[in-house]
Amino acid sequence: MPYYRDLLPDRNPDQQLRWAPPYRQFESTELRTTLSVPIYVEARFRGVVAVDVSLKHIQALLGAPSDDSPALNRYLMDSAGRLIAANHDHPSTDLRWPDVLGDAWPDVGPQTLFASDGPGMRKGEGGYLFYQRLGASQWMLLEAVSTAQLYGEVFSRISKPLLYVWIALPLLMWISVRVVSLLFSYYLALGDKLRQLAERDPLTDLANRRHFGDQFAQAAARRERDGSALSMLMLDIDYFKKVNDRWGHASGDHVLQRLATALRENMRAMDVPARLGGEEFAVLMPGATLAEATASAERLRVTLAAIPVEPAPDAPTSATQGDPGARIRFTVSIGVAEAGSDGGQTLDAMLATADRRLYAAKATGRNRVCAEDARAGNAEAPPVAG
Ligand code: GH3
Ligand code: MG
Ligand code: MG
Repeated sequence: MPYYRDLLPDRNPDQQLRWAPPYRQFESTELRTTLSVPIYVEARFRGVVAVDVSLKHIQALLGAPSDDSPALNRYLMDSAGRLIAANHDHPSTDLRWPDVLGDAWPDVGPQTLFASDGPGMRKGEGGYLFYQRLGASQWMLLEAVSTAQLYGEVFSRISKPLLYVWIALPLLMWISVRVVSLLFSYYLALGDKLRQLAERDPLTDLANRRHFGDQFAQAAARRERDGSALSMLMLDIDYFKKVNDRWGHASGDHVLQRLATALRENMRAMDVPARLGGEEFAVLMPGATLAEATASAERLRVTLAAIPVEPAPDAPTSATQGDPGARIRFTVSIGVAEAGSDGGQTLDAMLATADRRLYAAKATGRNRVCAEDARAGNAEAPPVAG
């Protein structure tokens, strides 16, 4: 009988407990195994104590799969890799290591598990193997868990409130980041809008007087540093009151807007056209000498005189004088000044010089450019526009 034979001193020198391969007493009865220990008295082998145990009993001890952990597989294995019992039904009673679960752990075998001291864990393909030797016996308790099972187990053990917090935290963070970035872009847009309001003339979208002053300060500082030229034009529409009187105020506004567009289109990118107020405009021309600025002014004057402006819808019918396709024509007078001895250094001094020459242009017939001071007595009294 194996339960006796295997316990003889030469076969079992370290006097271990042994189990015999499972057997059935009769076809109808359940599988049993025989556990046996050798008895030594005064170092002499005297016999064996053997106990028959139902495999069902061992299986129950291993913990049958429950609702909590339905797919947790536990095995009892001996050092030769033989399956003694499992917590679930298995196809045969004569299974060895690779048959049971060795496939998933190709570099692990009974020897390696028994060689390690204490309990441990090995990671295999798609799962984990936990193992623990039962005392000093030749039995090893194994527990195999797939990665998916393990995550399921972990999640099922995390408390529900903690799980909600865990899910809610990134959501809250995402929402707060969204809100902050929305607020941020709102304030950026608001800042743009405010700057636009502070710097631009609403009717023509040209620089206003204040922004023109800022731009002049920068250009003047640059001129100080590198000695580059700096010129300025000042424009006033000729007989603009007449335009308003004939075509209406709204049509007058069209003229102002068309003039602003022409300034943007015809001046250099570095030039700063501005609406100083009413129908008075100025252009700051960094890097331009008096002669260059005068040439630009002359080209601009000719261009503007050739631009037909569409009247506003509310223009009185009498204004068209019988021609429904009639357009508003207008001209400008321009005064030119250059920073330095010619026009002074400051904004006020240059504006005064350009303004003086503008009125000299008005005085000498309008629709012209003036870049020098009229002889004494001439520019003092600009005529009242008619
Ligand atoms: P001059 O050739 O001497 O310049 O004659 P003028 O009629 O143009 O005379 P002045 O420059 O003094 O006229 C300014 C007119 O511009 C008075 C005002 O009715 C008109 N004006 C000022 N601001 C605006 C505006 O925003 N829109 C319109 N449509 N007209 C304006
Ligand atoms: Mg004017
Ligand atoms: Mg005018």
